[in-house]
Amino acid sequence: MNGARRAPLSSRSLHSSPVHMASSIVLFGPPGAGKGTQAGNIVEMTGKPQVSTGDMLRAALAAGTSLGVEAKGFMEAGQLVPDSIIIGLIEERLKEADAENGVLFDGFPRTIAQAEALSQIAEVSVVIAIEVPDGRIVERICGRYTCGACAAVYHDTFNPTANPGVCDQCGHAEMKRRADDNEDTVRTRLSAYHTQTAPLADWYRQRDIFVAVNGDQDIAKVGSEIAAVL
Ligand SMILES: [Zn+2]
Repeated sequence: MNGARRAPLSSRSLHSSPVHMASSIVLFGPPGAGKGTQAGNIVEMTGKPQVSTGDMLRAALAAGTSLGVEAKGFMEAGQLVPDSIIIGLIEERLKEADAENGVLFDGFPRTIAQAEALSQIAEVSVVIAIEVPDGRIVERICGRYTCGACAAVYHDTFNPTANPGVCDQCGHAEMKRRADDNEDTVRTRLSAYHTQTAPLADWYRQRDIFVAVNGDQDIAKVGSEIAAVL
């Protein structure tokens, strides 16, 4: 976000009504940490809708809203959509009826500048980070394979086929592994995640709303740790 765009953003935010300040949740988690499952649980528990900036952007482009048209210009020029537009989309989303009691932010913010801008338009009451050691993520992701015929999902360690290489479900004997499920690719993605998240975690820690949850345990236990936080 550049200075020129920041000024109108904060002056506009001053006029936000208290309705938009209902408490929201931010969820962080590395790839393979089960963030999607836990996001679903949080939505169910709190009734707060899950908000993804990617989805909002796609919807705005499809609907041709003024922010959508503005965003399209940047995308067609091969540029990143500026934070001011993303924040504008969030601000509009927060005015919708289902966001009355706040939302669950997934995949946002990604930078401190975004966290600062978000703090102007939404009250974030808690930031939950699902933490799983990198080695465990590598083990989870790299062990996955699926049946080439029926797409049944297996895992080398946690859920192997009864007969090696033969699908339990349909008997097909050809298993597939995704090319990007290899250790180097996963470790690269994880280090990008840590680089991006660490400063944000510190930023939220300073504001006493950061909570780390142990994601290296049974899905239901992760869910109850999160429920305890909420
Ligand atoms: Zn199969």
